[in-house]
Amino acid sequence: MSSQVRDDDYVTGSTESIYTGKAVFYLYSCPVLAWLYLHGHLVVDPAQEYIRSGKDLDESRFSNKRSLDLTPYGKCDWVTGTQTNPVIHEGSRSKFHNDPKRAQLRHYLWAAHKLYNINAIGELHLAKGPVERIMPNDDMVIKDHQRLKDLLNSNMPEPRRIPICSGCSNQDWCWR
Ligand code: SF4
Repeated sequence: MSSQVRDDDYVTGSTESIYTGKAVFYLYSCPVLAWLYLHGHLVVDPAQEYIRSGKDLDESRFSNKRSLDLTPYGKCDWVTGTQTNPVIHEGSRSKFHNDPKRAQLRHYLWAAHKLYNINAIGELHLAKGPVERIMPNDDMVIKDHQRLKDLLNSNMPEPRRIPICSGCSNQDWCWR
């Protein structure tokens, strides 16, 4: 895909819309979470068990590894490979429900090309060892950014019970 198409699809008026990997992650997790995050209303308690266990895992897995600055589009977990052909890695705590992580990784591959003109590939490290290869897909990323833009301009979606609600840091707001 040409950089012209990337830019045309990414720019709104004269102001570029910037979406982070976390916004894309939330988009695939739950529209309510994505909407709250985009509007700056998402309250995340750092003491919540899910958040704490994630931070612990992050520190043990990759806090001392090399990273790649993808500002303002987010921060990938770690990177390996050469400077011109890097592999961007994301770690997951789960073997299941990893579409949010796949989308986040595709967004980082897109960001690496946009920022540095490098063709990276992705590796998603699932719980207990399996590694999944993630290839760039700019069409999907641009569609995801459009969905985020639509959410940004909409009212908050009605919460709907989904499997991740039980571990969600926002459940007290949605369901009590
Ligand atoms: S509790 Fe469920 S519906 Fe509410 S934000 Fe979390 S995942 Fe979404």
